Amino acid sequence: MSFDYDLFVIGGGSGGVRAARIAAGTHGAKVALAEEYRMGGTCVIRGCVPKKLMVFASEYPDMVADARSYGWDARIGGFDWSAFRAKLDAELTRLEKAYRCGLSGAGVTVFDSRAVLVDAHTVKLADGTQVSAKYILVATGGAPFIPDVPGRELAITSNEIFQMDALPSRVLVVGGGYIASEFACILNGLGCEVAQYYRGAQILRGFDDEARGHVAEAMRENGVGIHCGTDVMRLEKVADGIRAVATDGSERVFDAVLYATGRKPNSSGLGLEALGVALGRNGQIEVDEYSQTAVPSIFAVGDVTDRINLTPVAIREGHAFADTIFGGQRRKVDHSLFASAVFTQPEMGTIGLTEEEAREREPIEVYATAFRPMQSAFAGRPDRVLMKLIVSQASRKILGCHIVAPGAGEMIQLVGIAVTMGATKEQFDATIAVHPTMAEELVTMRSPTRRG
Ligand code: NDP
Repeated sequence: MSFDYDLFVIGGGSGGVRAARIAAGTHGAKVALAEEYRMGGTCVIRGCVPKKLMVFASEYPDMVADARSYGWDARIGGFDWSAFRAKLDAELTRLEKAYRCGLSGAGVTVFDSRAVLVDAHTVKLADGTQVSAKYILVATGGAPFIPDVPGRELAITSNEIFQMDALPSRVLVVGGGYIASEFACILNGLGCEVAQYYRGAQILRGFDDEARGHVAEAMRENGVGIHCGTDVMRLEKVADGIRAVATDGSERVFDAVLYATGRKPNSSGLGLEALGVALGRNGQIEVDEYSQTAVPSIFAVGDVTDRINLTPVAIREGHAFADTIFGGQRRKVDHSLFASAVFTQPEMGTIGLTEEEAREREPIEVYATAFRPMQSAFAGRPDRVLMKLIVSQASRKILGCHIVAPGAGEMIQLVGIAVTMGATKEQFDATIAVHPTMAEELVTMRSPTRRG
């Protein structure tokens, strides 16, 4: 049977683009890709990239305050959101072009259209054109989800935050995960008055307890009004904004309400169920370790599979898929160990097991130190950083590392190499410290803080 293409990719985000480029550019497959919105997906267009640029923007007031402590006659004026937004838009347009160039350079045919599945080898574009392919890869990502609270239409999500016409003065952030906590810090840094409502006992559930407690405390010190055990009961439009009636009995008016209560896979309306592709409870496409669905010619990678919803993981999945199907090497992605960072202020970098998870599995030693780093101590700021290692008593391997510090994302990337290689505590200790740095603590902690 002959097909129009060897591979048709639905979705031009991190996973889909990588799969298409490797399949076509490296393995010589004939590939097409359809994207209904802007090329680059969540990460580039409305996620990691614009978020990180907003993180940078939000850090300047503290830097200028520090500069004064170091003797500079520095002063910060107001923040011009529209000037920043225009630059942000231009940068995203540049990146989108780079993604398109990468695809065309690899010989991938791009359709700027929605595509849905017709059968196991055929997709239909928005104009009705049908295209056949030996393999179809679904890489449609996910989308923010707002729970069914009265007044939910008054809220915005992380999709809209980069498009705001003006920066709100009073913002409510709902949720306690990555996105909620990051934006609470960003908006606080940009000068907004921020309240964060989280239904649970402590934000950043799933991360190491000590580390997330450290982040929450620092966020509060920096001025974010974190309210745990608090959820929104309803939102109402009032003359001067949006009133949030909360479960703790409070009623407060905000200019904007940002919901960051999780994301759902973009799997509906694609015709998947009719073809026999199994979907999970959250709408995620069920795949095996090679990203293959219940229909042998259909594969899925990235957030639509709801495994580990991180850009580098989607990229790995897309790459492994292309190598497996078109490169003659069966490759799968190990989802059990990955480093990641939460770009709160302060940042948190983490790899491996939390203290709580490790303790459940085997006897461990915990090495932890919290201290005031040189740079901010000199400036008279109260900030403290946390360096923490979880060590297996039996194998001596580092089971987890958790860092809360400026630049923790950069640090954990490097620690991640050692931990992925299976480094032991003694190998960390044998590493000569780089002095004076914050990260040197990771190789100079001699006595365990606790055993268990
Ligand atoms: P998360 O799953 O991290 O957090 C969702 C939050 O919303 C949790 O605090 C959750 O509470 C709360 N929540 C869920 N449902 C409800 C509800 N019905 N009512 C009230 N609160 C609710 O999702 P995010 O949206 O923050 O991020 C999505 C994913 O994107 C992340 O899992 C991550 O993989 C990725 N991401 C990664 C980043 C990074 O690497 N730096 C940055 C941003 C996103 P509870 O804890 O009680 O369940």
